[in-house]
Amino acid sequence: MGSAINTLIQNAQIITMDEKNPILKGDIGIKGNVIEFVGKSNSFTPDRVKNVNGNIVMPGLINAHTHSPMTLLRCYADDLSLRDWLFDKIFPAEETLTEQDVYWGSMLGCWEMIASGTTAFADMYFSNSGTARAVMESGQRANICRALQCFDDCADFEKDSRMRQALDLYSEFNNAAQGKIIIDMSAHAVYTNTKKYLKFIAQTVEKLNCGVHLHISETRGENVDCVKKYKMTPTELFESCGFFNTRTIAAHSVYLTDDDISIYKNKKIHIASNPTSNLKLASGIAPIGKYLNEGINVALGTDGAASNNNLNMFEEIHLAALLQKGVNENPTEVSAFEALKMGTVNGANALGIKNCGILRRGWCADLIIIDTDKPHLTPYYNAMSAIVYSAQAADVDSVMVAGEFLMENRELKTIDTERVKFETKKIADRFASFI
Ligand SMILES: [Zn+2]
Repeated sequence: MGSAINTLIQNAQIITMDEKNPILKGDIGIKGNVIEFVGKSNSFTPDRVKNVNGNIVMPGLINAHTHSPMTLLRCYADDLSLRDWLFDKIFPAEETLTEQDVYWGSMLGCWEMIASGTTAFADMYFSNSGTARAVMESGQRANICRALQCFDDCADFEKDSRMRQALDLYSEFNNAAQGKIIIDMSAHAVYTNTKKYLKFIAQTVEKLNCGVHLHISETRGENVDCVKKYKMTPTELFESCGFFNTRTIAAHSVYLTDDDISIYKNKKIHIASNPTSNLKLASGIAPIGKYLNEGINVALGTDGAASNNNLNMFEEIHLAALLQKGVNENPTEVSAFEALKMGTVNGANALGIKNCGILRRGWCADLIIIDTDKPHLTPYYNAMSAIVYSAQAADVDSVMVAGEFLMENRELKTIDTERVKFETKKIADRFASFI
C-alpha cells in the first residue's frame, strides 16, 4: 500500500512532537508510507535522498474542523452575527451548489491546505462525494461527513434524503484511498435539528459504530435557546439523544458548563477549537487552557473559509497560544509545545488516525518541511517557538502524506492549480451575479 519508495530526509532540524525528545537534529528515513527511523541510521538504503540543509521538519498540521467547499464563499458575507450570516446569507447561497461545485470548492481547499502544511482535515458539508473525489486526487487524509439537519419533526426519517446521502457516502468512501479517507456521521447542531431526528442519527451512529462530528455550544445564544427549549445544554441534549458513545469531534465548545466538561471527560469527546472563526463571528473565546488542564483532547480547526477567511492552520496555532495568555493574563498558559500539539497529534487523535501526528518509528510518514531561510525566522534558538510565534504558512516548502510528496519545493504535485483557478472563478462569477 502507498509508495514503496525509501526516502531519506537529511540534515533536518526535527520537531518530533515526541514528549521525550521533542526537538533533535538528524535525518528521517521513510519506508513506503511509514517512518523507519528518526535521528541517525547506518542501515537504511534510500531510493531518493532529500537534503533539507538545516530546515525544520515536523509532523503535518491537522485541521480538525472545516467545510472545505466554503472556499467558494470566501469573503461572500462578512461582519454579521452567526445567525444572520448562516441563515440569511450562507444557507441560501449553498442551496445552489451542485456536487461538481463542491468538488471544485474542495479542490481549492485541498490546494490551500497543502500549500499551508495541512496533511489531514475533518470536513463537514453536503454533496460530499465531490469532496471525497477531490481528496482522493489531492492525496491528503480526510474525515468527511454529511451535515445532517432537520427542521420538521413529522418527516419520515427512513426516507430522509440527507440521511440516505450520509449512508451512501459511508458505504462508498469509508476507508477509501488506502484508508486515508474516513467517513464520520454528523448532526450539524442542536439548533438545526429536532430532538427526534437527533435520536435517529444517534441510533444510526450506534449501528455503524462510526465517528461523529458536531457543532456544540458555538455561541452563548445557542446555549440560552437550548436551555429554554429543552431544559438542557446542547451537550446534555446530545447526550440524552444517545450521542458520545463513539469517537466524537465537538467543534467550537466555547460555552461549556462544568457539567458539560464532566461529560466531555467521561465520554472522551475531542474538541476542535476554531479561534479565528469564533473571533470573526464574535462568538467568544473558548477557554481551551482550562479544557487542556481538565485533560480534554483539544485540537484546532479553521472552520470554513467563509468565516475565517482562509484555511491557514499556522494562524490558528498562533492565536490559540496568544489568546489564552492574553485572556488569562498568564504568559505560561498554552506553551508553544501545547499549541503545536493541538495542531498536530491532538488533531490526529480527534480524527481517529492511528499512529499519526508524531515523527516516530512505525508512525505515518505525514510531515512538512519549513524553509527557515527567511528574515522572520532569523535567528531562532528554539524550533518550536519559531513555528508557533514566527513562522508563516508561506514558509512551508514541501508536504508529504503517507510517504508521497504532495508539494515539493512549493510545487503542487497532485493538483492542477490553473484548472482549479479557472473552474472556481466560473462558480464565483455565478454567485457574484446575485449578491
Ligand atoms: Zn463549522
